[in-house]
Amino acid sequence: MSSAAAAGFLPPQMHVFVRDWLSSNNVLLKSRDGHVLIDSGYTTHAPLTLALLATDRGIGREPLAWLVNTHCHSDHVGGNAAIARHHGCPIAVPEAEAPLVERWDGKALLYDYCDQQVERFAVDSVLPAGSTHVWGDLEWAALAAPGHDMGALVFYNAEHRILVSGDALWEHGFGFVMPPQIDIAALPATRATLEMLARLRIRVVIPGHGEPFTDAAVALDRAFRRVASFEADPLRMVRYAMKALFVFGLLERRRMAIADLPAYVDRIGIYRDFNALFLQMPAAHLAAWLVAELEKVGAIRRDGDHVVPD
Ligand SMILES: [Zn+2]
Repeated sequence: MSSAAAAGFLPPQMHVFVRDWLSSNNVLLKSRDGHVLIDSGYTTHAPLTLALLATDRGIGREPLAWLVNTHCHSDHVGGNAAIARHHGCPIAVPEAEAPLVERWDGKALLYDYCDQQVERFAVDSVLPAGSTHVWGDLEWAALAAPGHDMGALVFYNAEHRILVSGDALWEHGFGFVMPPQIDIAALPATRATLEMLARLRIRVVIPGHGEPFTDAAVALDRAFRRVASFEADPLRMVRYAMKALFVFGLLERRRMAIADLPAYVDRIGIYRDFNALFLQMPAAHLAAWLVAELEKVGAIRRDGDHVVPD
């Protein structure tokens, strides 16, 4: 079913602002008892996030009552500080993520470690796995969804069979997963999370990125196949993560000088560590490999002596 039709399955008090790959989708749940927003996009897009919220499809001039997050990666919490400032609303994050945010662990949260910018925000409340919440006059179960992010939650409404999946399930895959040499639990957790999702009755999935979709079974099938390919060859996970992060970084920077890339992959923690652990390439080879691989799949292109997102 098309994404427009999928959006038709949503109750009227629910609106999804579909964003791009740099900013996660924003899910708005409206209620007279207070409006709730799930995920806030990327920091540099915070003005656009605020502008979308202020439209007629959003909440106009009314304030937000709560901002909640599926997980605390930069593209989901980047607008947190700006939104809390503008709306004066409290922020709730998954309970397992709260200590990382409180100590602003830029490595565990993949911020500076992956060359990602996030304006620091304060945690006002935590969402325990297994808790239930009434947002937008609907009851949402917060379900543990470890894998891509070990502290992540998904939110499930049984009445309408809606799943807000964050980066645990997209229409075509899921957010990158750490290889076993970095986190032995990540890939088994990814599989277990997909198995948990497969047991839910789902009519619409609202992913962290991409349009809402209705074919949860097909998406789960693809996701299981991806897990199997990672299980068969963990190096695939390393290459996938590096490529995904590089495209993400380039989306933010818009263009990067090709001549600067060897120093870049040597400076940014995740490339340096993954290269040292798994690939052992000279930095110039790693940079050239990234560019060649991403050019081949049409994710980036050369523009003179720069690379740009395609
Ligand atoms: Zn994520």
